[in-house]
Amino acid sequence: MMLGKFLNKTFPKDDCMEWTGALYKSGYAQFWHEGKKQRGHRVVYRLKNGPIAEGLVIRHSCDNRKCINPKHLLIGTQKENMQDAKERRRFRNQKKTECKHGHAFSSQNTSYDKKGKRVCKTCARLYMRKRNGYNGFRKSKTDSSQFPGVSFEARQNKWSARIKIDGKLKRLGMFKTEIEAINKIKEKK
Ligand SMILES: [Zn+2]
Ligand SMILES: [Zn+2]
Repeated sequence: MMLGKFLNKTFPKDDCMEWTGALYKSGYAQFWHEGKKQRGHRVVYRLKNGPIAEGLVIRHSCDNRKCINPKHLLIGTQKENMQDAKERRRFRNQKKTECKHGHAFSSQNTSYDKKGKRVCKTCARLYMRKRNGYNGFRKSKTDSSQFPGVSFEARQNKWSARIKIDGKLKRLGMFKTEIEAINKIKEKK
């Protein structure tokens, strides 16, 4: 039987049957079958279960691309296949005990995002601080100008000038220096 011919050319590893013949660069078994090169796991599935409907993929429950054990081959959609890959990645990441910056994933230092991915609280805090401009470069509110209506805008790295006219705050623009901003306000008064 055709299937047996292929299965005999495998090496057992754990519960898998690893193909000992040629492999694709992607790691899948390469069969010579029906006069052409084909991905082995798909051939095995077809020989065992019949044709594979268009658009469906054959997945490895064992995550071992070399494996052609018919019991490890599942039919599914590309979407399911990607879902599998995502879950495996998540599983691998769960095993890491620290974030990429070396902070421990302790219970106090770990939160989860919407997708269930672990987030390092220390990194998140540092990120927020940076984003809000408390990275040492920004002048804080107290460093801001003593002159009413003038304040330093860290994002633009400029001074803004505002005055109140008839109770409404009016922007006078952004200036490179504090003095320019003050002069603009004096001009309007
Ligand atoms: Zn397997
Ligand atoms: Zn971290």
